[in-house]
Amino acid sequence: MSETTIKRKMSDTGSILLPSRLRGALSWAAHQTIIATYNPKSNTVVLSKEKEESDSIPFGISLIIDELGCISLPKKVRNKLGWLFVDPKDTISITLCPWERTITLALFEKYDEKCIFCKKPEIVTSINDIGVCRECAERIARAC
Ligand SMILES: [Zn+2]
Repeated sequence: MSETTIKRKMSDTGSILLPSRLRGALSWAAHQTIIATYNPKSNTVVLSKEKEESDSIPFGISLIIDELGCISLPKKVRNKLGWLFVDPKDTISITLCPWERTITLALFEKYDEKCIFCKKPEIVTSINDIGVCRECAERIARAC
């Protein structure tokens, strides 16, 4: 079994729906308590049933999966991650790691979805992870 990544929006209150396919793979049911730990190196949240022993620093919080399969990241956690979204279109990538029996939440970088200059949703090239469309790339090239 390989890793699976699904992208989901996070609500203003920090609620994220964990897709049933991922929950099912780990047999995580509603009302289940899971532990959220913070990985400062990658700025991600690792969800697991057991406490992480690695170098990640525990939040000291446990989260409960609700009826619908959602968890809510408290504001202090989102503060720590910098996930108090300016752009509501920002999404979280949810990655299942079957052999570690964890689900990792990370901010999905959407630089490749629209041009940084004109905001057109077409990307031709990316420079240092910044997406630029053909028109703007040509304009920049002419200006140089
Ligand atoms: Zn452009």
